Amino acid sequence: MVTNKKLFFYSSKQSQIFKHTQIDFIVTSRENGFSKKEFSSFNLAYHVSDNNKSVTKNREKIKNIFHANKPLIWLNQIHSDIIKTYPNKNPQAFCQTGDAIICKDKKVKAMIMIADCIPVCIFDSKKNIFALIHAGREGLFKNIIPKTLEKMSKNYRSNCEDLLVFIGPCIQKCCYEIQADILNKLQELFPESFKHFISQKNNKTYLDLPMLLKIQLIAQGISQHNIEELLICTKEETKLFSYRKSKKTGRFALIASLK
Ligand SMILES: [Zn+2]
Repeated sequence: MVTNKKLFFYSSKQSQIFKHTQIDFIVTSRENGFSKKEFSSFNLAYHVSDNNKSVTKNREKIKNIFHANKPLIWLNQIHSDIIKTYPNKNPQAFCQTGDAIICKDKKVKAMIMIADCIPVCIFDSKKNIFALIHAGREGLFKNIIPKTLEKMSKNYRSNCEDLLVFIGPCIQKCCYEIQADILNKLQELFPESFKHFISQKNNKTYLDLPMLLKIQLIAQGISQHNIEELLICTKEETKLFSYRKSKKTGRFALIASLK
C-alpha cells in the first residue's frame, strides 16, 4: 500500500506557519506513480508528451487522496503574468491559460505544475482566499507577484499583513547558471536590488530566483515572518522533477484547497 507520505513531498500539516490555518496544501513527489522512463513516475502534466493514460491515472490517484471528491482545477501555464480567478463565468470547464489562480471556492482544489520554477501559495487568513502562482524567471520579470497581490487587494480587499506565503522547492542559486543576456536584463529591470540575487563562482554567474521572489514580496509589504521557504533545489533533489536536469521530464505539483 502506498501511503500519503510517499506521494507528498511536503504538506501544510508539517508547516509551523500553515498547520493551524484554513488552507491545506501539498507538494507532490515524483515517486509511486504510473508514468515510465523520463516521466517516472508521478508526472501530473499532460503537455510534456508523456502517455496521457498514465497522467490520468496519476491525477486520479492524487484526486482520491487529497481532498477527495473535490474537482481539480489547473492552468495551461505559459510563463506569463496572466492571473485567473475562481469561481468565474465558466466554472464547469476550468482549465484556462495563465500562471496564477486566485481561488475562494472551498469546493475545488487548485493545482500548478512545476519542474524548476517556483511554486508559490499565498493565503489570506482573514478573507479566506488563496493564490497559487507558477513563478519562473519570465513570470517574475513580468511582475506576476505584485500583480497577483494587486488583484487580491482589488477584487477581495486583501491586506498584506494578513497574507501568509509558502515558497516551494525550485532551482536554487547553486544550480541556476545564467548567461550575459539574462544578467543584463536583470540589471536593467532591477537596478537597485539585482546584487542581492546574483552571485559569481569560478567565472560563472548564478541567479538566486527565490531571493528575487522574496524581495518582491517584501517590497509589497509582506512580513518576512509570514514567509515559509523550503530551501530545496529541484535539480539536486531526486524525488522531484527538474527541467534543467533533463529537458524531457515530468512535472510535480503544488495543490491547495480551503478546509
Ligand atoms: Zn542546486
